[in-house]
Amino acid sequence: MSRITGNGFPHLEHTPSPRTARRGLVAAVAAAATLGLLAPGASPAGTDAGGVASLTAAPHRASTPSGATLLASTTTVTGLKAATPLYKRRPVTKDRLVVVLLQNSTHEETGVLLADDAQFKTSYFVDMKAWLERVSQGLYEYVPVGDGVYKAPASDATMAETEAGCPGSSPSKDADAFLKGMGLESGRDYDTLAIQMQNDGCVWSGLGTVGDPRGKGGGIWIDPGSVMGVRMHEFGHNRGMQHAAVTFCPRGKMTKCTDQGGATVPSPLGFTDAAVGYTAVERLGAGYILNSQYRYSKGTGTLKLTPAYAPRSAGGLRALEVPGGKGYHYVIEYRKPQGTFDTGVSRAPGIRIYKVAVKNGKPDYIHGAMVRIAEGPTEWGQFDPGESLKDGKLTIKAGKNGLVTVSRS
Ligand SMILES: [Zn+2]
Repeated sequence: MSRITGNGFPHLEHTPSPRTARRGLVAAVAAAATLGLLAPGASPAGTDAGGVASLTAAPHRASTPSGATLLASTTTVTGLKAATPLYKRRPVTKDRLVVVLLQNSTHEETGVLLADDAQFKTSYFVDMKAWLERVSQGLYEYVPVGDGVYKAPASDATMAETEAGCPGSSPSKDADAFLKGMGLESGRDYDTLAIQMQNDGCVWSGLGTVGDPRGKGGGIWIDPGSVMGVRMHEFGHNRGMQHAAVTFCPRGKMTKCTDQGGATVPSPLGFTDAAVGYTAVERLGAGYILNSQYRYSKGTGTLKLTPAYAPRSAGGLRALEVPGGKGYHYVIEYRKPQGTFDTGVSRAPGIRIYKVAVKNGKPDYIHGAMVRIAEGPTEWGQFDPGESLKDGKLTIKAGKNGLVTVSRS
């Protein structure tokens, strides 16, 4: 369950299978390490067992909430003057995705799922596409290669591995050979390869390469019975996201904290049990926040954050970054359900704070950890109005409806 350190991408990451997550951690590491499942051209730098909780996010559709324009109210700012930004949005990227349905089922139920290419077309190129466009605000997008979804035969080697329990490296070889037969080469003709295959005998329900946050491409391997949240988890890994970390702090402080990887955080990378988007630090790392929605301030004052997943047209600030004590910055966001999006935070809307290490003047957003009070009711990391936290001279105080006050003394 150790948290990944450093930027050793690309490597493999997995979503623990709900059935085996609690007993299968050690086995999962071994399985992932021996799988050799890699996107063509990628090479593993390591694996990580990650969280222990299961990911049971329900499939959901992204849509524009009604009354979204109400959110475009004037941003309240007193002080907190903007300093030179440390963050820059990514340029608009279109990633070419090909989905292979590998026909390796050994039981009827999975066979029916793997035969249903229409369902996967909708799932990947309507639902998931809409979700990714929403979380990235149109800065990152998947486009299908040809029809997008193809059924591919499984080799004897793959069938033997599947029958033995958990497929190993053969499915990737099968998919690669099948696509080459269609004249499709990795890098030249497609960037990301998603292999849907029967892997319900594995200790993981999904697997993904951990890539460059601002890069393209990657690979995921997923059981057709897995919910959409698992795909969002693996696609997050493709964009460099780690299993979300939490830093447990004493009440009122952001120092003397204890880090924990693979923790419950409102993100598909945080093993939460409902539909949620990526966290502010995940989105900053991947470049999914607009420059105008981000502010770095060394000053003091109060400002009102707009909910993280308000539509892009609503404007407003989605992330505030402030320097703290030695070597750390804090990123603050406001999470609140927006129509049918980010509904998983409905039980705990509010301000969230992420502690980010700064190395050579660069904030390491992707490894940021959500601040949580060790002994508090903030299971999902929200800070209730009136709550304040200190690191050295810095104090961050949560207000109502996205208001944040920063003071220094
Ligand atoms: Zn994972």
